[in-house]
Amino acid sequence: MHHLTAKSPSPAKEKVNLVWLKRDLRIQDHRPLAFASEECQKGIPAIALYCFESDYWNSDKASPRQRKIVWDSLHIMAQDFEEACPGGRIFMAECRSADEVIARILEQYDVQRILTHQETHNLWTFERDIRVQKIAKAHKVEILEAFQNGVNRAWTPRNWSDLWKEWVTAPLVETPKHWVGPKNEVEVMQKCGVNPVDTSTTIITNHPSDIPHATLLSFLNKRCLTGRGYRAEMSGGELAAIACSRISQHLTWGGISTKEAYHIAKTYGDHCTDRHKHPHMNSFITRLLWRDNFIQQFESHHSMELYCMNPAMEHARGSDTESLQRFVQGQTGYPFVDACMRRLNETGWITFRARAMLVSFAAYALNLDWRAFGPHLAQNFIDYEPGIHYCQLQMQSGTTLRAPTRIYNPLKQSVEHDPKGDFIRLWIPELKSISGVGIHTPENRIRNGYPTAIVNPARLWKTMRANGPQSPKKTTPQLEFFFEEGAA
Ligand SMILES: Cc1cc2nc3c(=O)[nH]c(=O)nc-3n(C[C@H](O)[C@H](O)[C@H](O)COP(=O)(O)OP(=O)(O)OC[C@H]3O[C@@H](n4cnc5c(N)ncnc54)[C@H](O)[C@@H]3O)c2cc1C
Repeated sequence: MHHLTAKSPSPAKEKVNLVWLKRDLRIQDHRPLAFASEECQKGIPAIALYCFESDYWNSDKASPRQRKIVWDSLHIMAQDFEEACPGGRIFMAECRSADEVIARILEQYDVQRILTHQETHNLWTFERDIRVQKIAKAHKVEILEAFQNGVNRAWTPRNWSDLWKEWVTAPLVETPKHWVGPKNEVEVMQKCGVNPVDTSTTIITNHPSDIPHATLLSFLNKRCLTGRGYRAEMSGGELAAIACSRISQHLTWGGISTKEAYHIAKTYGDHCTDRHKHPHMNSFITRLLWRDNFIQQFESHHSMELYCMNPAMEHARGSDTESLQRFVQGQTGYPFVDACMRRLNETGWITFRARAMLVSFAAYALNLDWRAFGPHLAQNFIDYEPGIHYCQLQMQSGTTLRAPTRIYNPLKQSVEHDPKGDFIRLWIPELKSISGVGIHTPENRIRNGYPTAIVNPARLWKTMRANGPQSPKKTTPQLEFFFEEGAA
């Protein structure tokens, strides 16, 4: 955080600090909350605010599924907060955009500072942040932004990896223990259209894995050794859903910070006497680095949200409605592709490899532009993180300038990652009765209501290669991504 500057007093209004919550729905390792808590001890009360912004939630990158996660996360956070800081309350607002509500709070209170985390999301949140900055400037209120992850906004330092390591190994911020709200807090906030989170209602989460710290600990204690272990099972069928950490949702919405996840995994690994676990711990920690690296690349090359990084691919692909509908509904007639899509639609999570294969199939087999099918994936992922999403969409559909082109053969993926076909049978009931290797094969006929192959299987590989990028012109900087092991 920056150093503070004094603000001239406003006698009629009550002094407060405003903590503006975004995708940081936790009380641990939360610098804005910790800072406000210290200020409470010095006599300046604080307000913690979360805004449900309808302009964001109605956009084509968001979904009711994700809104529910935020809702549940706020309830969990509010309970933790009350427990750690008796009297600690979170307020929630329904609004078009946070700047509306923040403007009203700045009218009602003598806000000393807006304390928040630096957002590294998409164009909409970037523009929203600019509106908030303008309002704060007009009221002469300083905004202090803490790092949410090991990412620099808008530019990438040369020694990024070293800085990331320095950041991630630094001590965690202390959990707040003390909180004082302003006088008549509830009435005044209600005037601003803001209500406290009602923690008397029972939280209805979907699954125990909705609790961030418990999810990580269950992975470290037990799940990382599922089957042949995390590293071997992470690309597999249904077992991968247990063997993987499943922490992505919590990192996305901030139920746990990347730094705390790192600290917990590192400490666990350092004290773990079961040497079978060590390679899994290391792989997990490496992925936390990848995560922030992707977000960093996106911050530095944010035009990739809108345009192909390889200009030669800008108009190369289309958005054929029938292909798109069959793809997003899991009706392409390619069993493993459809099983992955149906699992995603139903649960919000699939493995890295399944995500990569889906994108590869849409781009190369169906010649669909990533901007046509990207919103469906963004809405359905419970862990939608634009930094990873856009980099991966462009990499896996061959629209970056990075060679070589990687094309996932869906038939090879099917045999390798679901050898017995159990995953396909689970997600495609139409094929339940098919035994043996025939389960993997797309066919040019309808089977028990399951559709014919959308691309003639005999021509699939030729079609996929033909839809690859043509010799790119290097007109934008080459990106350096961290890569998973080889495709095809
Ligand atoms: C097209 C496509 C879109 C993707 N979109 C997202 C997204 O919106 N949000 C998201 O969190 N991940 C995304 N990923 C990366 C990856 O698939 C998920 O992070 C992972 O499957 C989440 O499951 P997990 O938490 O069990 O991961 P684990 O394998 O246990 O990994 C631990 C954490 O490391 C990070 N991580 C893992 N793999 C990667 C990777 N290849 N790149 C960057 N970070 C990684 C994630 O934060 C993850 O939670 C995408 C991948 C592809 C191919």
